[in-house]
Amino acid sequence: MTFGVLPAHKDRRVRPSLTCVLGPPGAGKTTFTTRAAASLGGSVFRIRHAFQNHQHVLTDDLRKTSDELGWLDDRAVEQVLRVTFEQGQFATGPYPVLLDNFPGTVDQLRLLHRLTTRHSIPLRVLELTTDDARLADRVWRRRVCPGCEPDRHAPADVRAGAEPTCGRCGGPVIVRESDRPEVNRLRLRRYQSNCRQIGSAARAWGLPYRQVDATPPPDEVYREAIRAFDWNGAEPVAFSAT
Ligand SMILES: [Zn+2]
Repeated sequence: MTFGVLPAHKDRRVRPSLTCVLGPPGAGKTTFTTRAAASLGGSVFRIRHAFQNHQHVLTDDLRKTSDELGWLDDRAVEQVLRVTFEQGQFATGPYPVLLDNFPGTVDQLRLLHRLTTRHSIPLRVLELTTDDARLADRVWRRRVCPGCEPDRHAPADVRAGAEPTCGRCGGPVIVRESDRPEVNRLRLRRYQSNCRQIGSAARAWGLPYRQVDATPPPDEVYREAIRAFDWNGAEPVAFSAT
């Protein structure tokens, strides 16, 4: 065995695990995965970052996509997953990995299922759900700070005012590209058509699948989502809002 990732921890109760965190745009996936990874000592996997980091493993044809949301071919996804998890280039250690908004399709779940089965790593799915009106409202309000978050992924803590600013650096905040109404509509539609299939496949393959209501404030959602699974002995520490 040559893969250098996910070694046994000295405390045998602490085991690696892969948790897929799914939900429609605005459900709070990034907020949850970021907090949970910090509190559990784990890490967050985002397919877009993995692609950026592992461009070199992809042939030219696999780097291109004509998909309207920029999704890459599943052959590219498979290569990136292998490099990330099997060749040790993603230092996950023995702790939980939270996959933010991944898999996007049932075929991608199948890839993950094969990979984790090969290495006897638990795989489970957490789905954050809430009603359409709330989602639309959250996406409409959401801003990102190009100063604090050059990647423009995590939502900024916005300070309200005539010109809303970033609560952290005071700089201007902007609408995330994928939150523009026409793009958001596409994302939501794609999510809805894939989510049901992912859910049935997960259940058919015996993967733990939990739904958590993402309507309450983030602290409450966080607690419920942490309660939804046994995190293999890694004691979650209390999250205090700042
Ligand atoms: Zn900022």
